[in-house]
Amino acid sequence: MNPFNNAMEQLKKSAELIGLERGVFERLKKPENILQVSLPIRMDDGSLKAFEGYRVQYNNSCGPYKGGVRFHPKTDLNEVKALAFWMAIKCAVAGIPFGGAKGGITADPKKLSLGELERLTRIFTQKLAGFIGPERDIPAPDVNTNPQIMAWMVDEYAKIKGYNVPGVVTGKPLEIGGSLGRNEATGLGGFFVLERLVKKLKLNPKKTTVAIQGFGNVGYNLAVFLHRAGYKIIAVSDSQGGIWNKNGQDMDPVEVMKSKKAKGQIDGCYCRGTVCDCLNFTKIDNEKLLQLPVDVLVPAALEGAINEKNAGRIKAKIILEMANGGVTLEAEEKLNKKGVVVVPDVLANVGGVVVSYFEWVQNLQNYYWTLEEVNKKLEKIMDEAFEVAWQRKEKYQTNLRMGAFALALERIGVAMKTRSEN
Ligand code: NAD
Repeated sequence: MNPFNNAMEQLKKSAELIGLERGVFERLKKPENILQVSLPIRMDDGSLKAFEGYRVQYNNSCGPYKGGVRFHPKTDLNEVKALAFWMAIKCAVAGIPFGGAKGGITADPKKLSLGELERLTRIFTQKLAGFIGPERDIPAPDVNTNPQIMAWMVDEYAKIKGYNVPGVVTGKPLEIGGSLGRNEATGLGGFFVLERLVKKLKLNPKKTTVAIQGFGNVGYNLAVFLHRAGYKIIAVSDSQGGIWNKNGQDMDPVEVMKSKKAKGQIDGCYCRGTVCDCLNFTKIDNEKLLQLPVDVLVPAALEGAINEKNAGRIKAKIILEMANGGVTLEAEEKLNKKGVVVVPDVLANVGGVVVSYFEWVQNLQNYYWTLEEVNKKLEKIMDEAFEVAWQRKEKYQTNLRMGAFALALERIGVAMKTRSEN
């Protein structure tokens, strides 16, 4: 499966839907810049190993390029191109002044020591240094990258420039210019969007069951906000598998995470208050989790989780696509025919880049906001993005993804034309 083909199909479909100007369409069919680099590092055993790295700068009509960096054994150029394109769309959906970019290294960080990971991050930063910067292109964390990796990137970039430039990446630790609320922003943004949809569909959160595939930064934080608001989290999984409560009894994601950290995997045993017990959870594999009869299904791991092969077996009423490219185009067509509402990635998971934008603004002005300020501003942007995407969906009699794309393409098109780019 080539995610870039999927992304380009989405572009074509939405461009036709809104009658996008030919010039804008032509420009959006290809990324503006692609950097492909070899990253040789000394391994702990003394050998030399060369990894492959990428940075794709897709479009900067609306502002500097912006997008995360992913370390994954399956990462390749097509994946990074697709993710960079979706970043351009997302920033336009959220109405924040950024273009789209993405970076990646084909590597399994779980097989690297901390020292090897640091050396790999530093050489990647050296190779990117001439192409990134607060006015040019601002990386951030994505799958398998985290605030520590961002801290190494800031440090390496500072060595090259000769002075500290905190705004060169977002998702940094707080101590070196990170923003309050950034770590949980993607999950919180997804929560705000789901709340709006649940109101529109007149559902009762307390009776709404949820299954989440992927229990990392995004899946976990979303689970925490949903659980707090009374939604019933009845199944979660990570790359090793997951747990499901057949009786519909909800789980506390904080306790599940504590147990996962202690045991190295998700299992059914955790503590409620002072009582530690093995609750009656059934082990479940990732494919089965996707097919559970829940109200809301959340793919929060990798792209293509819901695809042509399994779409017919999905029983959820709502899919909140937190993973980039979590639902393929063919799958979405099948799901829409069954009446399933898919909240697309370009809307559901924009919370991360929105708070990255806040972090960048705070770095540039050297003035930092409280958590309440950050979350309030995030809620406002998410609510507006949802409402306007919904309006476009109604206007064009289409689904929410095409509604969000219509909105983004309008905004990018206007920016291109205003800059006389076509
Ligand atoms: P992460 O590395 O923190 O977590 C990924 C999770 O997915 C882990 O629990 C991992 O075990 C699980 N996983 C991996 N392969 C799996 C599989 N085959 N089946 C089930 N689970 C699997 O990454 P993250 O930051 O939470 O990102 C998750 C998704 O959200 C990605 O698609 C990412 O692009 C997207 N996203 C992340 C952010 C962000 O701010 N972190 C922002 C926007 C979008």
